[in-house]
Amino acid sequence: MKVALLNDTCYYFDAAVNIGYVHHGNQGMLIDAGIDDSVMRKVLKQLEAGNLPITHLFITHAHADHYGGANFLQKRRGVYTIAPVLEEAVLRNPKLEPMYLFGGNDLLPELNNKFQQNKSINVDQVIDSGEYSIGNFTFTAHFLPGHSSHQIGIQIDNILFAGDSYVSEEALHEHKIPYITDADATVSSLKKLLEIECEGAVPGYGVFEANFKETVRKNITYHEELLKLVLDKVKTKPDGISHETIVADMCRHFQINSPSLSQWLLYRTTVTAYLIGLVKREEITSVIEAGKWMFKT
Ligand SMILES: [Zn+2]
Repeated sequence: MKVALLNDTCYYFDAAVNIGYVHHGNQGMLIDAGIDDSVMRKVLKQLEAGNLPITHLFITHAHADHYGGANFLQKRRGVYTIAPVLEEAVLRNPKLEPMYLFGGNDLLPELNNKFQQNKSINVDQVIDSGEYSIGNFTFTAHFLPGHSSHQIGIQIDNILFAGDSYVSEEALHEHKIPYITDADATVSSLKKLLEIECEGAVPGYGVFEANFKETVRKNITYHEELLKLVLDKVKTKPDGISHETIVADMCRHFQINSPSLSQWLLYRTTVTAYLIGLVKREEITSVIEAGKWMFKT
C-alpha cells in the first residue's frame, strides 16, 4: 500500500479501497478506513513513520469496505468521527446493511460476512451537505446519492474525496454491474461532480486524477448504456417483464454465473436501481400483477 502526497496537506493511501488523509498542524483526518484491521494497521504504521497525527475520521458512506478498519482505529486512538446523516445509523448498527439487501428479512448465517457487515463504530458528529469547520479542518460536504442513500464526498484544500460516487474506468468494467441504489440519482450525482472546481479527485476505486472529469463522463456513459440495455429488455416484452426475470437476464448478459446469495443480492439491488431509475424518468412503469413485480413501457 503506497501513500501519495497530493498537495501541501492532502494524501491518499492506494489500498484496495482508497483512504484519504488531510494534515493540519497537530491534527490529521482520515477519509474512510479500508475494509479491515490489517489495512488500518498499515495506515497507522505509515502515518507514525511520517510523524503524522490522526485525530479525526470521516466516513463517506456506510459500506463495509469503507469503514471496516474504523473500529480498530477507534480502539487505538481517540479519533473524532464524522459521518453523513442516515449512513451513521448503519455505522452504529452494521447489521442494517445485509438486512436491507435481504429485503428486511432476518439474516441467513451466510450473509454475515465482512463484505456486507463489519464492526460497529461510534459517530461523534453527523453532517449533511454544506460548509463545515471541524477542528482545524474546513471543508465542503457534497451530497452524492445513488451508490448509497446518503453518501457524502468532501472537498478540502482543493481536493475532492469522492467516495464511491465514481470509479475508475477499469473498475467499471471489472465490476460489470457496479453497485448502485438508484441509477437516476447516480447520474445526477455524477453530473454534480462535473460542476465541482478543484485540483483533482480521489475515487473509492481508482487513482487520483487531476482531470477526473473525463473519468466521471465515462461513468455517466456506462450507466446510461446500462439504463438503455434494461429499457430495451423491457421494450421486448409488450405484456411486461417481471423483476425476477430481468435480474436473471442481466446476470446472464454479464456472465455472472453462480454468484453466492450475498453477491446476488448486490446484483439484484443494482438491477433494481436501473429499473427504478427508468421509472423515475417515466420511461417505464411498474405494477404488481399476479403476485409479481412487473415492468412495462
Ligand atoms: Zn460503496
